[in-house]
Amino acid sequence: MLDLSFESPKPKIISGAKFDWELVIGMEVHAQVASASKLFSGASTEFGNEPNSNVSFVDAAMPGMLPVINEFCVEQAVKTGLGLKAKINLWSAFDRKNYFYPDLPQGYQISQLYHPIVGEGEVIVDLEPGIARKVRIERIHMEQDAGKSIHDMDPNMSFVDLNRTGVCLMEIVSRPDIRGPEEAAAYVVKLRQIMRYLGTCDGNMQNGNLRADVNVSVCLPGQYEKYQQTDDFRHLGVRCEIKNMNSMRFIQQAIDVEARRQIAILETGGKVEQETRLYDPDKSETRSMRSKEEAHDYRYFPDPDLLPLEIDQNWVDTVRSSLPELPDEKKLRFINDYKLTEYDAGVLTADIESADFFESVAKLCEGKLAANWVINELFGRLKKDDLPINESPVSPNQLAGIITLIQNEEISGKIAKELFEIVYVDGGNPNEIVDKRGMKQVTDTSTIEKSVEIVINDNPDQVAKAKLNPKLAGWFVGQVMKATGGKANPKSVNEIVFKKLNL
Ligand code: MN
Repeated sequence: MLDLSFESPKPKIISGAKFDWELVIGMEVHAQVASASKLFSGASTEFGNEPNSNVSFVDAAMPGMLPVINEFCVEQAVKTGLGLKAKINLWSAFDRKNYFYPDLPQGYQISQLYHPIVGEGEVIVDLEPGIARKVRIERIHMEQDAGKSIHDMDPNMSFVDLNRTGVCLMEIVSRPDIRGPEEAAAYVVKLRQIMRYLGTCDGNMQNGNLRADVNVSVCLPGQYEKYQQTDDFRHLGVRCEIKNMNSMRFIQQAIDVEARRQIAILETGGKVEQETRLYDPDKSETRSMRSKEEAHDYRYFPDPDLLPLEIDQNWVDTVRSSLPELPDEKKLRFINDYKLTEYDAGVLTADIESADFFESVAKLCEGKLAANWVINELFGRLKKDDLPINESPVSPNQLAGIITLIQNEEISGKIAKELFEIVYVDGGNPNEIVDKRGMKQVTDTSTIEKSVEIVINDNPDQVAKAKLNPKLAGWFVGQVMKATGGKANPKSVNEIVFKKLNL
């Protein structure tokens, strides 16, 4: 299969008072595994349940309770790793990351620091046709989510909801290969797209099922290339980590604001302190949360309640063979099979439902026309009604029916749009509607000739003008189209008008 070649985008430059600066960004994305139960307990993961109703004794860390690993969560993590073309580690292990927080009853989070289940991989982040960034993945590890402290329900008390405690997260860690705010958002969009294709994370950012931590630093032009050649981080600036963002817009704004803060410090002779910060969208600033902690601060050690996780290659191969066609491959296939532009193929493969819909249409009629109609007419109309593609009132069969009528020159493009609206609102078979309502294009030249003659005879002044300026013949074409209710074949009308006017 052909490979889609692309060029890397230019890094984003931010001009300070003295110098131009480049951005360097690495991301840690927490993706909640799509699974009915938690990582080490059988409690439900359903969103929106009564607070503290999805909590087992294990999640509440009652004395003597032991974690039991959920095999399905492991499979989901492996699937995600394979989708990111990453190395799967057949031997991995769980560690305790110790810290106190009211929404973490155990007093530690079970995570994988030293031996993650997934190793190095890569993601192609599409920015525009022909321009993409290859972002290297460093690792993916599994870990438990914490619960939720609620401070805004009562003036004197705080509450805790442990429903989320122990839910399985995949932490996807990238290398610092991202060079601007737009790229950072596009990276998260691509990860989400791949995971939705795989069915391993629903990507719902509003519910907190996908959150991003962003590591931002700035450097002078040329430094990043030195880092690339030597893999030595000292060529890059000191980074700050901005925690827990759950919207694409906030990710971009936070990066921009944080980079400008660092630039202001550096240009006035100061030093950027490595720390963890929070983004406040209301004030459009980042604030220090805590100075950057190191691994030893958490006193990580192997969890004595859990054996190392060993999986075998045959099982990994079975999981691999169950993978669906992924976005990059599907896009490439659409370009090759249906002769689509990269842009159109990108739009149609943005989600699997749209891709499937398009392909059902394209199997029944001409691919390029099918792409135009799905993207321009169908998506536009659905957007107007705020409907998802799987609730489209027009089925692939109906849309293919309309397109086939255009292909066979039985209806004009203009009539096709009317027909589309009729099918969208009232349903029905496009062929039957066209027959019943007499919408077929008039290709019979004698009918068109008659109509042209009438217009010519009725408008001697226009005829005189057109003889002096042939461009005005278009007026006659318009009149004939009007007289035939848009059903005349425009090409025939044009030819006949020129012939009758002797132009
Ligand atoms: Mn984490």
